[in-house]
Amino acid sequence: MKLILFGAPGAGKGTQAETLSKELRIPAISTGNILREAIQNKTPIGLEAKRFMDNGQLVPDDVVIGIVEERVARDDCRNGYILDGVPRTIAQAEALERFGVAIDNVVSIEIEDSVIEARMSGRRVCGRCGASYHITENPPKIENVCDVCGGALVARADDKPETVRERLVVYHRLTEPLKDFYKSRGKLLTVDGNRPIRTVHNEILAALGKSV
Ligand code: AMP
Repeated sequence: MKLILFGAPGAGKGTQAETLSKELRIPAISTGNILREAIQNKTPIGLEAKRFMDNGQLVPDDVVIGIVEERVARDDCRNGYILDGVPRTIAQAEALERFGVAIDNVVSIEIEDSVIEARMSGRRVCGRCGASYHITENPPKIENVCDVCGGALVARADDKPETVRERLVVYHRLTEPLKDFYKSRGKLLTVDGNRPIRTVHNEILAALGKSV
């Protein structure tokens, strides 16, 4: 199965992708995580991406397209994958079609901007493996320690309120038009992202026709 988890920043794509990845036994590919790792490792891509990410802007399409093309060609993707945070522009979606990636479904997690702004202040991510948490909605077992790898949890630099507002502007302008792109291809499914994490998860499975 090749699935896109779609939605505004903070809609819960990363959290849902992690659970679905375990259940469906296919990798979750987060371009945000890949880029953050590149920044940590100070690679040329990381250095280029950082100035866009810190300002809430999108990283240029050619950089992201190159990352995804290389990642989906790896062996662990042969039974499918979940794309989290990509495509974010029509050019990226068209590039996926060009490499022959046949997306089965796009699940859009719908949530209002006002809820997102409130949510982002409580988000924490693991500085080592990228797993995501929320201080009240999805806390780790031990405060500030990642359940998956034991790494320290940190707030993301781009989760500051002013950067979140900019990311939402960018989302509505450049990313949201993708809903029509996939709707016209008969791929778009929508779920209500305002519900608790488990409920959203079950709604996604139901939308995909999987038993809950
Ligand atoms: P995310 O972790 O998905 O919220 O992504 C964090 C930041 O990484 C975004 O605000 C962008 O600056 C950058 N980014 C992640 N994925 C993409 C993408 N598909 N296209 C462009 N920029 C991206």
